[in-house]
Amino acid sequence: MPSRPRRPAAAAAKMAAAAEAAPSASPASRPKLEPKPTSPGERLGLRSDWDYALHLPLHYIDETRITAIAALREGHAAVVQARVVLAEVAGGARKQLRVQVEDASGQLELRFFHFYANWPRQYATGKLLRIRGEPRAGLFGMEMVHPTCHVARPDEPMPDRLTPVYPAAAGISQAWLRKAITSARARLDVREWLPAALLAQRHLPDIASTLDMLHAPTPEVSLAALEDRSHPAWQRVKFDELLAQQLAQQQARAKRATLRAWPMAAQAGVQSLTRRLLDVLPFTLTPDQQSCVAEIAADLGRGQPMHRLLQGDVGSGKTVVAALAATQAIDAGFQCALMAPTDILVSQHLRKLADWLAPLGVHVAWLSGAQTRRERAAALAAAASAAAQLVVGTHAVIQDKVRFARLGLAIVDEQHRFGVAQRLSLRAKGAQGTEVSDAANTGQPVREPHLLMMSATPIPRTLAMAVFGDLDVSTIAHLPPGRSPVQTRVFSDARRDAVIARVRELVAAGRQVYWVCPLVEESEVLDLRNAEATYAELQAALAGVGATGEGADSRVGLLHGRMPAAQKALVMADFASARLRLLVATTVIEVGVDVPAATLMVIEHAERFGLSQLHQLRGRVGRGAEASECLLLFSAPLSELARARLQALRDSGDGFVLAQKDLELRGPGELLGQRQSGLPALRHADLQTDTELLEAARDAAIWLLRHDPPAAQQHLQRWLGGRLDWLAA
Ligand code: ADP
Ligand code: MG
Repeated sequence: MPSRPRRPAAAAAKMAAAAEAAPSASPASRPKLEPKPTSPGERLGLRSDWDYALHLPLHYIDETRITAIAALREGHAAVVQARVVLAEVAGGARKQLRVQVEDASGQLELRFFHFYANWPRQYATGKLLRIRGEPRAGLFGMEMVHPTCHVARPDEPMPDRLTPVYPAAAGISQAWLRKAITSARARLDVREWLPAALLAQRHLPDIASTLDMLHAPTPEVSLAALEDRSHPAWQRVKFDELLAQQLAQQQARAKRATLRAWPMAAQAGVQSLTRRLLDVLPFTLTPDQQSCVAEIAADLGRGQPMHRLLQGDVGSGKTVVAALAATQAIDAGFQCALMAPTDILVSQHLRKLADWLAPLGVHVAWLSGAQTRRERAAALAAAASAAAQLVVGTHAVIQDKVRFARLGLAIVDEQHRFGVAQRLSLRAKGAQGTEVSDAANTGQPVREPHLLMMSATPIPRTLAMAVFGDLDVSTIAHLPPGRSPVQTRVFSDARRDAVIARVRELVAAGRQVYWVCPLVEESEVLDLRNAEATYAELQAALAGVGATGEGADSRVGLLHGRMPAAQKALVMADFASARLRLLVATTVIEVGVDVPAATLMVIEHAERFGLSQLHQLRGRVGRGAEASECLLLFSAPLSELARARLQALRDSGDGFVLAQKDLELRGPGELLGQRQSGLPALRHADLQTDTELLEAARDAAIWLLRHDPPAAQQHLQRWLGGRLDWLAA
């Protein structure tokens, strides 16, 4: 039961009228700059009339018939029309309003525990009420608790359509929504833009009857088909939504084809940086890496900006592929920027790339929140003068002050951690160089940098098509050879002692261990306290193990999100150089950290992590030739979902298999938020069940853009309206 009184329909209608009138009320009395009050619709994300029209019911109420009181059945919601014979406020600790009503067939009691002071008057004896509620057997016959009711006119007609119930938010009434949606629909241009043949082929109704069916179905329609969304009208809506998404992506792709970039052809000579890097690498590229490198090299050689996603499981070796893309850009005389989401990851990339490239004479600079002002000024100057050929940094790289002289290639690592806006501003950096502005002055096209995005969250095929339809994708499907799969075991935290014993054993044998503490209830403070307690506990447990004398205790390190970046880097470096044997960390180590000598990962409260996060964490071990293990500690009781996650993780080490499982367990909405894709989340279609519609929508999008561009534009406008610019990112 809601804890606040339900408003009678009349009051709700008044509220709705007031809400609608508000923005235009006395414009002169309001200073110009004051923002308009947010309307209830805006709180639901509804702006245009089409937004309202596409706000679709969750379910329906049948109010088309009046049921005689004598015919009411317990638990079956019904509409009754009856006269008040008695209305009284019953006292006691908890006041309640009791209204006794009567029709020709019998009596019914209405009970309200929350009510406004004027209700007893409004529902006074003799008033005719139209009441809707769920009857139950009370002490004195049938009763309804908190029914919706209003004073009815004797000749008030019955609705001839089912009453829609819309998704709403606190403080937004159904009555307001119904009215707003009805008036939006009345203004709507519902001309059909899709070709009849296309609709006929898929047995889809036209858009006008689709909206009519969904907002105001006639009573004989199958409620089941409407509510489980299998009805053709629902199919049409899902198809249209997917079509809009596919159109937007095809368009973004077409638009990109008109952009210019500097072609940076691969240099194969023995003196080329690319060649020399390949020569100094301590390993040979796997076939997968080779084909990714070739795909990227071909893109970089073209005059259109590359827009490519390099996906590969954790540890699959994406960094070297990125480094080879960078050398190709540098060989051609351009700068390359590499952006990573965390300070730790940046310093690690920096270490690895500088190890590889500095001896070859490449000037690598870095930009991060962690550096001193002088270091930063030097890095900025190096980027602006083209002295720095490679600039590695966190999102500091895309800040306003950063200018590049000749940015040819931008690489985004762990791209799902960045938003669309950040990707956009990185691309804009390409147009800043002096040469580029000169080019603009001379009427030459503006050149954009090539963009390479990397992700260790592999995406199942359907999802990739839906979300990255406009991207080219290169995949590293197999890990480099010589890795032994990580043995994963699941333990109740009742066996924590056994786990600690295993840690001691490994550390004594000279191995390295990660111990991950989870985020507690999103609270960084608790999170930290927890990690510190574990740190103290493990320090005590490991005292004297694997080392004698001085420094034995300091073999345990602590890493958490609140530490200054420089200190984090120091701890990471100590762990990488094996001075620290056990690293207690919060999830700051989730992405990309590479310490091949670590062979055990313990994850505490593993039940609190998501599947892909656990997989990413586990990917920190098993990077060398030594057999590695991952121990997942959980505290009982386990929810069914958490159990399924831990089992999936124990049974598979393949990121693609796990991503598919993740999709099944929690659906695509969470797997890929709007943040990653830049696409508005799908509201109606479901990527798991509507695969066939998605494929049809993609074909239709390609067909429409080729044969009926105006229809494509109309469709996009309806569905995405003002959000279109965003999609071009
Ligand atoms: P990720 O794809 O998760 O970013 P990294 O690029 O960090 O993975 O690579 C993981 C580890 O594998 C690194 O230590 C890297 O040097 C090593 N590596 C990369 N490619 C190969 C290869 N072809 N053979 C052997 N080791 C490789
Ligand atoms: Mg990486």
